[in-house]
Amino acid sequence: MLENIPTSAAPALNRTSVALIRASLLKFAGLLVSVFLLAACLLFYVAHDLDTVEEHEGIFYINKAIKSVEKHVTTTVKDYASWGEAYKHLHQMVDVDWAFAQANIGSGVYKNFGYQGVFVVDGADRTVYSVIRGELKSVDIAQWLGRPIDALLNEARAAAGKEAAVSTIVNFGGIPAVVAASALTPGNDLTVEAVDGPVSVLVFVEPLDSARLQAIGTDYGIKALRIVTHDKVSSTTVQLGEDGSAGHLLWELEKPGKKLLGFMLPLIGVAASVVWLMTWVLLRRTTFAAKTLEDNYASLQTSQIALIKSEQRFRDVAEASSDWIWEIDAQGQLSYLSERFEEITGLSRNAWIGADLDNLLRFDSGKLSQWLKMPKRHPNTSVQCSYIDSQGQARIARLHAREMVDEGFRGTACDITDEVEARRRIDYLSQHDALTGLPNRTRLQAFLDGKLRAVSTREAPLVMLCLDLDRFKPVNDLLGHAAGDHVLNTVSKRLGDCVRTGDLVARIGGDEFVLIITDMSSQDEIDALCQRLIHSIEEPIALGAQEVFVSASIGIAMAPNDACEAAQLMRYADIALYEAKAGGRHTWRFYAGDMNAKIIERRRLESDLRYAIKHGELRLHFQPRVRIVDGRLVGAEALVRWQHPVHGLVSPDTFIPIAEESGLIVSLSDWVLTAACESANHWPNNMFVSINLSSTEFRRGNLVARVQKALCETGFDPTRLELELTENIMLVDATGALEIMRALKGLGVRLAMDDFGTGYSSLSYLRSFPFDGLKIDRSFVNRLGENEKDKSVIQAIVGLGRALSLTVTAEGIETAEQLELLKAVLCDEGQGYFLSRPLDSEAFDLWVRDKKIEQTGPPIPSH
Ligand code: C2E
Ligand code: CA
Ligand code: CA
Repeated sequence: MLENIPTSAAPALNRTSVALIRASLLKFAGLLVSVFLLAACLLFYVAHDLDTVEEHEGIFYINKAIKSVEKHVTTTVKDYASWGEAYKHLHQMVDVDWAFAQANIGSGVYKNFGYQGVFVVDGADRTVYSVIRGELKSVDIAQWLGRPIDALLNEARAAAGKEAAVSTIVNFGGIPAVVAASALTPGNDLTVEAVDGPVSVLVFVEPLDSARLQAIGTDYGIKALRIVTHDKVSSTTVQLGEDGSAGHLLWELEKPGKKLLGFMLPLIGVAASVVWLMTWVLLRRTTFAAKTLEDNYASLQTSQIALIKSEQRFRDVAEASSDWIWEIDAQGQLSYLSERFEEITGLSRNAWIGADLDNLLRFDSGKLSQWLKMPKRHPNTSVQCSYIDSQGQARIARLHAREMVDEGFRGTACDITDEVEARRRIDYLSQHDALTGLPNRTRLQAFLDGKLRAVSTREAPLVMLCLDLDRFKPVNDLLGHAAGDHVLNTVSKRLGDCVRTGDLVARIGGDEFVLIITDMSSQDEIDALCQRLIHSIEEPIALGAQEVFVSASIGIAMAPNDACEAAQLMRYADIALYEAKAGGRHTWRFYAGDMNAKIIERRRLESDLRYAIKHGELRLHFQPRVRIVDGRLVGAEALVRWQHPVHGLVSPDTFIPIAEESGLIVSLSDWVLTAACESANHWPNNMFVSINLSSTEFRRGNLVARVQKALCETGFDPTRLELELTENIMLVDATGALEIMRALKGLGVRLAMDDFGTGYSSLSYLRSFPFDGLKIDRSFVNRLGENEKDKSVIQAIVGLGRALSLTVTAEGIETAEQLELLKAVLCDEGQGYFLSRPLDSEAFDLWVRDKKIEQTGPPIPSH
């Protein structure tokens, strides 16, 4: 998705648009400049046109002015020439007096009209009368003018009949001068008669000097009308005379166009500048704006990318997570459901949009909408709801919700059905034993705590039974774990059947159970229950074709009588159990105050024993073993005792279990081994010594090395050493046991199986393990003579031993009858009180000596 966003395209686009704006601006500015240029051109054109018009008008008015001056002079000269008196006094004769002195045509002409020259030229072209600037002078007109004017004179004479005047403009000493001529005629004066002959001509000359020109110009609105010398003519002038021979007139041209230009051009310039300035500013602004825009766009783009990423993240999360997302409006109706809703619930989104959230999700304590609107609800809290999926199955969802800004709520819902189920299962497993399904120690603890809190009374005590299976371990070890499991399950079921609902049966260890019984006050009732429990457990348990038998010992403690705390109650029940076991198993004991003392005593014994082993308080007694057929002493079993400073001689049945449990058995056994070998060193060479080994020490430490060490240290002949093992050593780890036994055999020692008959599959072990002999347990021998069955059992064992080349020894021979019977079944060797009790070293040595003497006779029972 993100890959599709061209990250540089947008600024590029932006740049293009900015460039476009700039180009448009430039074009616009160009257009404006063109407009300004056009306006300027037009202005120039108009100005030029105006100037041209002005010039033409100037020329027109100058010409008109000159013409008017000419006309004035010609009119004046014609008026004077067409006067009969003048004809009489200046043509028919030249009467200077009349003309000048009487001021008829004299200085008055100059004074009144400003004509500088007044001339009369007769028919022979002689200047007969001349007044110059009001003064009578005798000057030839051609000379004065500096040019002949014959043509003009002739023209005037020609026009005499029409009483008209002619004029011309000549160059008069650098300035133009209007020369007007008219033939002297009597005019309308009938008193004067015209004479024939050449006609005289009256000539007036008016030079147009600067002042005159100025005055003429002023009359016609021409400024600074003046004469220019021909060679200086550069601009427009008005020519006077023929081809300008009389000079050129110049005036001050108004030039309105120029003025217009002078006024408009700066305006246009300013306007153009303003436009340029504005364009420049606009361009700058555009560039700046573009840059800002670009920057903004960049940040916008960054935020847009962030937005897209965030959206994408949201979508990914929404799609990937197991949560579905919902939204409700202010009315609590669903306005949005994410796609995952359908995948998870199987329900249709379309069907649910618009529906009430309360209808979709149920909330145990009230309505979900109420929960959402709870005033102090923390937004991070969640709630567990249930809903029905498309299959009609009830499912559990966890809901998170946040209030939306514009009312309503949105949140996620996560299907936690499996999680809840798993948690329930884990809870169950954590509180129950996986094998039997019974409550475990944790559950027991909680149950006990609960029960103990609800104070029990003497009348309604809480009874705790600690129950331990007897003979379970061999089942497990021998028949395999599956068999063990089956036994445990059966026992569990039977225990459950013996108690009432409300009571608790818990399994707290391998074959340890705890029962919590309520509503049972009298000891009789409890006795009956224990009896029932043991009886039910002792019922045979079918294992395929086989049947196994287990029993149980029970310890009982009661609250509040014995203790009110769970731990203490447990401890007391355990002590009672210990007592029950010590009391011969498959029985029960109530906790008694002195039991605790016994435990303490046992602890003390343990430390005393530790001390005893180190400080030589152990003694060895020897019980002779004889050959049954002839009563010959063949060896002795070493039996350990403890010469306790306070308790006297303590039996191994008391301290061997303590030694086994505390691990002291190894050092104890080391002492026995050495002491036995040392003692036996003094015996005759053909006598062996037999030593008991604990199954626990068989597993611990390096037994082979220890035996070897004892043999080495004492220098005792290994072939004279017999080790008595119980089958327990083989039950735990048969392979390991076999290995050790082979190694022991490698040392040269003999191995005998002790207590044969009390175990399970002694026969198979006998066959596969390197035993040299077996000792029939005294419980069989004890019963010999009581019934035939035991005799045949012993007979069978003896036969088996023989078949396997094992020396068979009968233990616990207490009567002559038993001895006889054993002799009858050809049992190899015998041991028992009837033959001899275990004897201390000296007594045994004596016994040996006596025996040696009597070796040939029958065995003498010793007491
Ligand atoms: P056990 O190996 O079966 O030893 C024989 C027990 O039977 C001895 O008891 C002995 O005094 C007793 N006994 C012998 N003849 C008769 C009889 O005719 N009638 C009766 N009722 N009992 C007879 P003790 O010495 O008290 O030893 C008990 C057990 O202590 C032994 O049973 C043995 O398992 C264990 N034990 C003794 N000494 C040692 C030892 O040095 N090391 C180890 N690990 N265990 C020992
Ligand atoms: Ca023994
Ligand atoms: Ca024995």
